[in-house]
Amino acid sequence: MKTSRTPEDICLICKTNKADKEGSHFTPIGMIKTVVGKRNYEHEITISPGKGEIDQFYGRSNLNNTDTEIHQSDNVADYIFCTECETNLGKIESECIDKLHDFSKKLVEEKLQLKVTTKGNACFDFTKPNKNVLTLFFYTIIWRQILLDSLLHKVQFPVAFIERLRTIINSEIKKSIADIEKSGDYVNYPKLIIYTSYHKDSDTTGYTYNPNPYPSNPELFTVGTYDTLIFKPDRISPHFNLETKLPTTILDNDLIINDAPQSVVGIIDFNVWDTKQKFFYAKFADDFINFYVLRITNATNLGFEEARQHLMAETHLIAKTTGADNYGDFLDEASQNVISKHN
Ligand SMILES: [Zn+2]
Repeated sequence: MKTSRTPEDICLICKTNKADKEGSHFTPIGMIKTVVGKRNYEHEITISPGKGEIDQFYGRSNLNNTDTEIHQSDNVADYIFCTECETNLGKIESECIDKLHDFSKKLVEEKLQLKVTTKGNACFDFTKPNKNVLTLFFYTIIWRQILLDSLLHKVQFPVAFIERLRTIINSEIKKSIADIEKSGDYVNYPKLIIYTSYHKDSDTTGYTYNPNPYPSNPELFTVGTYDTLIFKPDRISPHFNLETKLPTTILDNDLIINDAPQSVVGIIDFNVWDTKQKFFYAKFADDFINFYVLRITNATNLGFEEARQHLMAETHLIAKTTGADNYGDFLDEASQNVISKHN
């Protein structure tokens, strides 16, 4: 994404060195390559109508960004980190990414030895990557995703919590893998649950938007085919299930990696994963459409509902004429048409 940052700015992780690194990723590309599809299609937004409604949405992270012109991938930015911090992040990533993909593959092939927690959640546990390393890996991604959000001017996280994560990341990534593994500090760091589902290769959702559009505690972050739940200091959301569409049984002490004897990853049914995903897509599709609705209401005398109806009718018309069903591509043109018809 385009930012106003320059190589003279200070690294956002260590706050010491100059942020000289170009092309830093917010979510490591290795974690999302299986879900964003081919490289040049990373920005593809598809809204397919079902009964005149949106039932699927494949989008990316720029939906609340009022700059709808896409230049550089939103997942990449220049001059946010220094070379040293970037190298240290890479060290943690290379400990985890391939192994996580390997687990996903084995899970689908039913080659993983699964366990069941006392609360009834399926899970698998392992010693490599070590639980501290894996926790740190996901902290770095969660923190970077929050950073991306803050650059998009949409932060819903307590500043003190973000700063705590940064401090942990800054001190931990400087350590050797062996020292991270030995650390006893992780039980005191923010509690984290990691879970996944049975993902097939064809499961290309192109979804990297974070965090959950409906704030919750724990907060949900998606990292490709793995989801993480990070606990903020305040109380657990009383309506966690409504905010995430996840069963509250996933808030299982046995799945909290900080307190587990070794690395542990929960497994949820694919239907549950899918329901959660579609729930978020619907919200993003809504936000995406509303961006164009607001463009119309700002330029015409139409009210919000009226503008939305005109926009959808116009979009439907264009889609029908072109024979394509990717509504996302036509919203821009449709909104211009509605504006010129009502001026
Ligand atoms: Zn740095």
